[in-house]
Amino acid sequence: MSDPTWFERNVETALADDVVRAAIDNAATKKIDARAAAVAEVDNFEALRDLARDIKQHTVENLDRYLDQFIASVESLGGRVHLARTADDANRIIAGIARDNDSKLAVKSKSMTSEETGLNAALQAAGVRVVETDLGEFIVQLDHDRPSHIVTPIIHKNRKIIARAFTREIGVEYTEDPQALTMHARRYLRDIFRRCDLGISGVNFAVAETGTICICTNEGNGRLSTTRPRVHVALMGIEKVIPRMVDLAVFLKILARSSTGQPITVYTSLINGPRRPTDPDGPEQLHVVILDAGRRRILQSEYREVLRCIRCGACLNACPVYRRIGGHAYGNVYPGPIGKLLAPLLCDKDHYADLPQASSLCGLCLEVCPVRIDIPDMLVRLRRDQVRDESVPWTRRLAFEWMFRALASPWKYRLAQKLARIATAPWADGQWTRKLPGPAKRLTAFRDAPRPAARPFRELWKHEQ
Ligand code: SF4
Repeated sequence: MSDPTWFERNVETALADDVVRAAIDNAATKKIDARAAAVAEVDNFEALRDLARDIKQHTVENLDRYLDQFIASVESLGGRVHLARTADDANRIIAGIARDNDSKLAVKSKSMTSEETGLNAALQAAGVRVVETDLGEFIVQLDHDRPSHIVTPIIHKNRKIIARAFTREIGVEYTEDPQALTMHARRYLRDIFRRCDLGISGVNFAVAETGTICICTNEGNGRLSTTRPRVHVALMGIEKVIPRMVDLAVFLKILARSSTGQPITVYTSLINGPRRPTDPDGPEQLHVVILDAGRRRILQSEYREVLRCIRCGACLNACPVYRRIGGHAYGNVYPGPIGKLLAPLLCDKDHYADLPQASSLCGLCLEVCPVRIDIPDMLVRLRRDQVRDESVPWTRRLAFEWMFRALASPWKYRLAQKLARIATAPWADGQWTRKLPGPAKRLTAFRDAPRPAARPFRELWKHEQ
């Protein structure tokens, strides 16, 4: 049997951690319940999902047109647009903006795209201190950790871990009271906001028609990060553009409901260029950095529908695999069902070869996705690609080959059923098979498998007839 892959080792570690697993399962269950309640309040939610899917798909299919329109709109408002082909390009551009403005202290509101490019490390190497200002991301940074969910970065942490990080890193008295911890973070960050000279944010939606950047947050940090410093840099993937303001209303209605079960995020900021002479506040400069980093490759492939994703995180909350292994096991910024597509498609399909396999194809992700991305179908297509490229282990290919032959012939199928029952007999315990040996060991390492029935359904049916 071949050595376990990095993903299999990560899974084993994650499954052994009962505390983290319980924390994730509990938080995800609350979110899914909240989503169901929030969705039930809207009469036409299914129609809204159809509309959101169609708007996004139309935009993806006409992406260059809408990107050009967005760039022209931002520039007409006095903003500057930078195109970054790779993650390194984006980091270099932003470090250059910091250097040109002599910026030394940057505040950042939540941005998964900046996690993807590794922006914090790049800026720190360029002499710029970056402070995360979203509470969850702040805690992740304080604890020298990584986010494990695209919306709730500390879904894997409990109060004790957070309390210890606060005491260790910013020297406050130990407390597990969430309100007291939040006040400590608030005091610490207010001082940073007073002194910062660069603000960095992500972008939830970029409206082509008006050049508006929409940022959705649940804390005031997004507004402070984009208005307090002299310079604001907004980092977005090319897929964040939508055509019109009227389309934005559709996405605002489905994003928070799908994500956290709120009717709308607490702060929905619409940014139209840098500060105008008549504005009471705002940055003197607005820079928008538009990142490709593999997205155009996806755009030209049969997987382009994945670019509809609005990063709501609903598929993570619903996924039975994510809920058991958490986000870190996926080894990528984007975990869960959407990560199983984005990691191999955006990054390295060989390195992430296990991810498309790590799904029961139960379809829950499709059921909750607000833009109806057919994740199970694309996972099957990725598996097909792997078989074609011969990038799956020969043992698995052989197993599929046998399965294909058995399923294609009624007599072979009947024979396979009988042989499976005989072969698993030594490890049988009632109707279950426990602790299989050899190459089948991993099948029953963490759960029991049902035993092939003594009398298959066909026989029972024939008898009944
Ligand atoms: S794939 Fe769908 S459910 Fe998952 S994060 Fe993207 S939009 Fe949300």
